Amino acid sequence: MQSIEAKNFINGEWREAASGERLSSLNPADTTEIVGTVPDSDERDVDEAVKAARSAFRGWYELGWVRRAEVLDKFAQLMKRDLEEMARLVTRECGKPLNEGRADVVEALHMAQYAASLGRMPVGEVIASEIPEKDAYIRRKPKGVVGCITPWNFPVAIPLWEMTPSLVSGNTVVFKPSEETPICGDFIFRLLEEAGMPRGVVNIVHGIGEKAGAALSEHPDVDVILFTGSYEVGKLIQRQAATEVHKFVATEMGGKNAVIVLDDADMGIAVPSCVISAFKTAGQRCVSSNRLIVDRKVVDEFQERFLRATDRINVGNGLTDDVFYGPMINKAGVEKYHLHNRKAKEEGADVLREGGELEGLEYAHGYFVKPFVYRMEYRPGTFCLREEAFSPHVAIIPVDGVEEAVAVHNDTDLGLAMAVCTEDFRKMRYVRDHADYGIGYVNLPSIGAEVHLPFGGVKGSGNGHPSAEGLLDAVTHRTAFTVNHGKEIVMAQGMSAEV
Ligand code: NAD
Repeated sequence: MQSIEAKNFINGEWREAASGERLSSLNPADTTEIVGTVPDSDERDVDEAVKAARSAFRGWYELGWVRRAEVLDKFAQLMKRDLEEMARLVTRECGKPLNEGRADVVEALHMAQYAASLGRMPVGEVIASEIPEKDAYIRRKPKGVVGCITPWNFPVAIPLWEMTPSLVSGNTVVFKPSEETPICGDFIFRLLEEAGMPRGVVNIVHGIGEKAGAALSEHPDVDVILFTGSYEVGKLIQRQAATEVHKFVATEMGGKNAVIVLDDADMGIAVPSCVISAFKTAGQRCVSSNRLIVDRKVVDEFQERFLRATDRINVGNGLTDDVFYGPMINKAGVEKYHLHNRKAKEEGADVLREGGELEGLEYAHGYFVKPFVYRMEYRPGTFCLREEAFSPHVAIIPVDGVEEAVAVHNDTDLGLAMAVCTEDFRKMRYVRDHADYGIGYVNLPSIGAEVHLPFGGVKGSGNGHPSAEGLLDAVTHRTAFTVNHGKEIVMAQGMSAEV
């Protein structure tokens, strides 16, 4: 495969970084393949991009909702045209199997279509005023320049979750893609250019988080930072961005998600739900479940069936057929997996499947690891039951009843996704009302997003401005606007201005 030489896209021009340096993006299933190279940008490039976005803002805003939506609609059509090519690129650059690469692009397409559809939706509300001759409105106005910083694991969907609602509502964008998957970002930008985005409305600056990412989140002329990524970096970005009073930061971060399997669960649903939740994308989804919290009455039966299903999992290069999950994204991802496995053993895990790195010719140049499965009695404050492993590392935790299941579920600082398997509507309701989560599922895996629903977490998983549907609230101001149709000024409570 040919390696792609990508550039920054700033003010409608393809440019090298001021440093003149470049970074490489490798295929994690075969690190001898360089998927592409990108500019290693710093604060000088970010500053150029923010200036371009600022000067394009007024014109883009004045174009109006419908015209902006038309550009996004054109972009969505181009994505449809190139869906298969993009899906293969996603698999090559981030390792997930081709069907998941496709799902990533389709989700991005849905987001672009959803954002385009907003162009003809109401853009505010008409509210009754206390004075009959006044009309009061609440109208959405764009905030200005939006900086988007995204993770590697959904390299097409998440950038478009962030960018398309920002754009349709009239903001301009500076995007810093993950340094692990920059070529997917480049593909998106080539389509945005082809769709006819006016100069400066969308800008991409490649580079590493600590340099290009930090320069964007610290830039004084950025109005909003939309960040999706790890808890550690999210916290850092909130601090970096806090220097400007006007700057708004929405952070969507990781989870220590769980599937709760209650004593009345249908095992035909619970077992596949748990396998998918724990191992899809090698456990590298923000909504992957590292914890299977299972009622003690059924835990032995569950464990046996879960292990049988786990043993059938096929790990390999995502471009080959029948692969359930592909490689870890990089060496650091493998090290994190080993750390969690080691910690679990130190903390008393009864190891059921030892895990470890896969060996053999087909795995020689990739970051492939096996499922690590253990059983552990719950103890408060256990590292391996509280911290995100972001790998195929999963604990089976026996509990007594629904109340203990929820208490164990809530013993983490994170709160993103939760699934419960039960046939009992009263238990389902208890879990719904008492578990800490932003995205809940019943008799389903803990993974799977729909763009017209909010997608975000509580506690350390997010600060309450979900991606997808909820993003408009982060990138627009809801302004009050009151019009007097009368001939005199009448104040509230019936007082005239002279009083
Ligand atoms: P990461 O936090 O390492 O990186 C995310 C982005 O932040 C990258 O673009 C990176 O370059 C940038 N960055 C790093 N340091 C920075 C700094 N100092 N200043 C500014 N930007 C910086 O995350 P990752 O490894 O790419 O992704 C995995 C994490 O993302 C997991 O924790 C996962 O749970 C989370 N995630 C969350 C969601 C969600 O919707 N809640 C979705 C996907 C992934």
